[in-house]
Amino acid sequence: MTNKTLPEGLHPDTLALRVAVERSQWGEHSEALYMTSSFVQPDCATAARRFANEEFGYTYSRTCNPTVTSFEQRLAAMEGTECAIATSTGMSAILLVALTTLKAGDHVVCSQSMFGSTIKLLGGEMARFGIETSFVLQTDVQAWKAAIRPNTRLLFAETPTNPLTDLCDIAELAELAHAHGALLAVDNSFASPVLQQPAKFGADLVVHAATKLLDGQGRVMAGAVCGTKALVDKVMGTFLRSGGLNLAPFNAWVVLKGLETLSLRVKAQSAAALQLATWLQSHPKVARVYYPGLTSHPQHALAMRQQNGMGGSVLSFDVVGQGAEQLRAHAFHVADSTRVCSITANLGDVKTTITHPASTSHGRLSEEQRQAAGIGQGLLRISVGLEHLDDIKNDLCRGLDTLP
Ligand SMILES: *Cc1c(COP(=O)(O)O)cnc(C)c1O
Repeated sequence: MTNKTLPEGLHPDTLALRVAVERSQWGEHSEALYMTSSFVQPDCATAARRFANEEFGYTYSRTCNPTVTSFEQRLAAMEGTECAIATSTGMSAILLVALTTLKAGDHVVCSQSMFGSTIKLLGGEMARFGIETSFVLQTDVQAWKAAIRPNTRLLFAETPTNPLTDLCDIAELAELAHAHGALLAVDNSFASPVLQQPAKFGADLVVHAATKLLDGQGRVMAGAVCGTKALVDKVMGTFLRSGGLNLAPFNAWVVLKGLETLSLRVKAQSAAALQLATWLQSHPKVARVYYPGLTSHPQHALAMRQQNGMGGSVLSFDVVGQGAEQLRAHAFHVADSTRVCSITANLGDVKTTITHPASTSHGRLSEEQRQAAGIGQGLLRISVGLEHLDDIKNDLCRGLDTLP
């Protein structure tokens, strides 16, 4: 027999390598990639039972695929939730949450400094379906509380945020949501389960842009929602199977392999980010550094408590300058002078990336929304990878040291 039942109580690092669906009859060591749209049925009577959900069996990859199931089971084990459901992208995971927890007339409260597309989706597109959205200051629990109405069904937070690394206290928000009969969803893309498991602090739904840290090598788009069987498996699963927001088996397989090295990568990238943030803080051409691992971060204590003592792999900094135009020119100069770092929107990659949020990820927001989110023209975001740190420092010096 090729399958052994895993014992109880294994550590997350072990689960990240071992949880998967059963091996096939061939006993493959690395999980198989089931690249097939449908599954052959042994006979018509079995097919009828499977389609009627009277017996489990794979039928069609929009409803279920073993490679996708392996990714879902492994991620759920790492997040400490009953189950997970995989989606085609991070945004389709957020769409799935919105379309299954909200209906016309409902209200959602979210942080005003969330991922740009999330703000557009929840605050813009959803309005056409009669869903109301309030945006609040991420760090202020009183603001979240004040925004709650009788029809509030969902609180949506992202911690730490992109690009300013603001945190929110997940346990406090969960308590607040539950006191008002609402659910708390947390986008955990920036931290990953290695740094924080939001469900342990009371979050009902944990959302992932698996495109980012979970893949970790910038290869595929993927997303997931983790939570209870009742909500994720039943309600979201039913919607996903009809709505077709599925993750493709190939992409699931890539991310499944990514999970195997997640812990090593996140810890190494987080340690490098702390060193880089500390170094940037003392650079004369840097006005301010945003990184939860620094004691200068206003929520440093919360970060250490909530994020397993680590700051994460993403940091941001403001270059020196006067006025929007000069700040933008300075930021562009620093990013354009790099020869190792990639100017690209992905993050959580093992290759270090640098972006100018005000003109890219947050470029579609109005100036007002951008100001509310605190994203200035002099801001640069770095997602620290695994290159030798001296090479990254030298790369940034090319631009920083030649600023006027
Ligand atoms: C990238 C990202 C998303 C969206 O994920 P996609 O896979 O690009 O759709 C959502 N939330 C956060 C925090 C992200 O960084």
